[in-house]
Amino acid sequence: MVADSMGEIDIKGNLSKVRERIEKAADRVGSDPQTIRLIAVTKTIEAERIREAISAGATIFGENYVQEARKKIEEIGHTSLQWHFIGHLQTNKAKYAGRLFDLIHSVDSIKLARELDRRAAAEGRVIDCLIEVNCSQEESKFGIRKEETLELANEIKGLSNLFLKGLMTMPPYFDDPELARPYFIALRRLKEEIERNDIPLPELSMGMSVDFEVAIEEGATMVRVGRAIFGERR
Ligand SMILES: *Cc1c(COP(=O)(O)O)cnc(C)c1O
Repeated sequence: MVADSMGEIDIKGNLSKVRERIEKAADRVGSDPQTIRLIAVTKTIEAERIREAISAGATIFGENYVQEARKKIEEIGHTSLQWHFIGHLQTNKAKYAGRLFDLIHSVDSIKLARELDRRAAAEGRVIDCLIEVNCSQEESKFGIRKEETLELANEIKGLSNLFLKGLMTMPPYFDDPELARPYFIALRRLKEEIERNDIPLPELSMGMSVDFEVAIEEGATMVRVGRAIFGERR
């Protein structure tokens, strides 16, 4: 993170550093950096800062809370931007989520999938989604268990208004990004396993400020980065 002389966060500078690191990580494993999307995570970040990121070329934003996102999207708009939902989604918020977001990263139950499908049908649209997988089997974390992922993927395949594009995971927090690597490998293997059942999963959403380079080395197509762009959250 870099602050300028005024103590302000240099969003533009941070963004270009993150982009550079994405490119280098992709190069290390022979991936095309163009295929990796940077999701700028904006929970608790106000509209003014988000506009700065937009002027610096950010186009995809990730929000965790439906109410907060709703206000910001109203204020900032949707034109030439994408808004992704990356937080835990309660079924009773599916209504708004179906209207507001271009991609939902966190579908983790059959009940939620069916509700999103119903809401999307009512809006006359198809919502793209990812399944959030709990690769660490921690009781406290959100996400579906690995063993149940294929069943949920099959369920979504049968829904007309929800379209499955891939998998997402959030490993436990480590200071050393290498410790997150096994979870990223686990998600990639799970993707390969499910794809053998004729369910294509082109997207892997994994990696945050501390560990996005490791995630890219393991096949991430989307990284969700907040603090490395906007500074520590208050
Ligand atoms: C907050 C959050 C991020 C971004 O985390 P940083 O450490 O700020 O990069 C990514 N993914 C999810 C699901 C989050 O909640």
